[in-house]
Amino acid sequence: MEKYALNKNTKTLHLIDGCCHSKNIKKPSITFELFKTEDDAISKHQNYIKHCKICFKNR
Ligand SMILES: [Zn+2]
Repeated sequence: MEKYALNKNTKTLHLIDGCCHSKNIKKPSITFELFKTEDDAISKHQNYIKHCKICFKNR
């Protein structure tokens, strides 16, 4: 099951349900691309993405 959602408009990677921008994402859309792991998202998009500060605040 996918845990990560990339907002293709803002190029920001979120944890699903991690913040108000990524609530209730169940499937890919024109806005969100979903990934099972963070590595999948990063390897596909390289330095093209940034991490949501709210979803990844615990690192
Ligand atoms: Zn977020």
